[in-house]
Amino acid sequence: MTDAPLILWFRRDLRLSDHPMLAAAVATGRPLIPVFVLDPETEAQGAAAKWRLGLSVADFARRLEAVGSRLVLRRGPALEVLAGLVRETGAVGVRWTRAYDPVSRGRDVAVKMGLKALGLEAGSLPGHLLHEPWDVATGGGGFYKVFTPYWRAVQGREVGALVPAPAALVGPAVWPASEVLELGVGMRRGAAVVAPWLRVGEVSALARLDAFLAGPVAGYAGRRDFLAEEATSGLSENLTYGEIGPRQVWHAGWRAWQEGQAGAETFLKELVWREFAYHLVFHSPQITTQNWRAAWDGFAWRGDNPDAERWRRGMTGEPVVDAAMRQMYVTGTMHNRARMIVASYLTKHLLTDWRVGQAWFAECLTDWDPASNAMGWQWVAGSGPDAAPYFRIFNPATQAEKFDPDGVYRRRWLDPVSPRARAFYDAVPKEWGLGPETPYPAQVIGLAQGRERALAALKQRNA
Ligand code: FAD
Repeated sequence: MTDAPLILWFRRDLRLSDHPMLAAAVATGRPLIPVFVLDPETEAQGAAAKWRLGLSVADFARRLEAVGSRLVLRRGPALEVLAGLVRETGAVGVRWTRAYDPVSRGRDVAVKMGLKALGLEAGSLPGHLLHEPWDVATGGGGFYKVFTPYWRAVQGREVGALVPAPAALVGPAVWPASEVLELGVGMRRGAAVVAPWLRVGEVSALARLDAFLAGPVAGYAGRRDFLAEEATSGLSENLTYGEIGPRQVWHAGWRAWQEGQAGAETFLKELVWREFAYHLVFHSPQITTQNWRAAWDGFAWRGDNPDAERWRRGMTGEPVVDAAMRQMYVTGTMHNRARMIVASYLTKHLLTDWRVGQAWFAECLTDWDPASNAMGWQWVAGSGPDAAPYFRIFNPATQAEKFDPDGVYRRRWLDPVSPRARAFYDAVPKEWGLGPETPYPAQVIGLAQGRERALAALKQRNA
């Protein structure tokens, strides 16, 4: 009975190594049919994330071919597509790596129930996280809402041994047909602009981890906040598509820590912020769309507005904010410190709803992650569980002095003769009417005035 194939539904797990679901499937001895489905949930993602996902899918298809397999591509609602493939191939069932955000979970539950109703095997395995969200609980049995105790709880926990990549995969006697998927069509600013900044696929991700641990990790604790430096790993781009597994990063980082590598502990701690985001999203899924603290629902956020549009276009007149917004537009990524600065500026100085910023990040980031993005925005806005205190309003100018002391980052993105600033002007839509000759704008609002306005509104909410 091992002749009937098993369908492997790949989503954010586009790698061969340390892939628990793939390893378990190989162990069944059945022929395996790897599949990627462009379903409505994936179609709904932001342009940059979707385009970047397409590159990851293409890379993974090549990886599979190198071990004698293929990636079958299909478009349509997941249950319909998967049930159809089962009928076509006589497969016994479908397996996938678990997802934890509410959109994916809603879909996955429906797929599981639908397949089981057809009498098929349907099952999910871990692989996207170090710890399943329900495996980490407080003494009282609840979930963690504050990072530091969460970190203490998982810091010394076993994450499981790595699983090697299969040397070969057995396919079916006859392969089902594959469709051509277009994941890049919504990319307004064009592949040519963002592509040079990417490191796509499993091989690049593993090389990136090695390179980081061989050098920059030593200065990570002290330099990671400096905007102009490449002092961080850049792995968020790969982790989000599962081109590298979190256990691979954890084990390598842990080894470096044990070997006395300065910075490795801080690095592991940052990796655990990603876990914490998923812990929160699993236990309180509303965090992705609603104020985590309902008490914020009455707060008079401004909805989308002309100031927010200036923020999106990197034209607020606040140099570090504009530099960061331009960095994201051109490269698909933004320095973590800069994400905090621009998020604070939008939600505090411009009093704009965090969801306006969350949506723009989702549109532009190539490392977009449903959990980390939502947690990051709610943390800065103050509406999240482990939020910054309401009176903590980043002063962009002070932040710039501290973390871009020589102005290198700001000049890089704002000086019209700088190649990166020019790349921004080349990339933006014509209707934005921006070019190197465009004068740098006056501030949307003075920093002191914006801070006072925000404090007054926030005090009222906290009264
Ligand atoms: P490193 O400093 O090398 O850290 C290693 C890994 O740890 C990262 O790859 C990432 O997986 C994890 N990590 C580090 N910092 C954080 C953090 N604050 N929260 C969660 N995980 C973290 N990260 C995303 O991956 N996708 C997002 O969509 C995203 N949106 C954000 C929005 C806002 C408003 C803020 C404040 C932060 C957001 N982050 C997001 C978190 C963080 O900015 C990025 O993970 C980080 O910049 C990635 O760079 P790196 O890979 O070089 O990180």
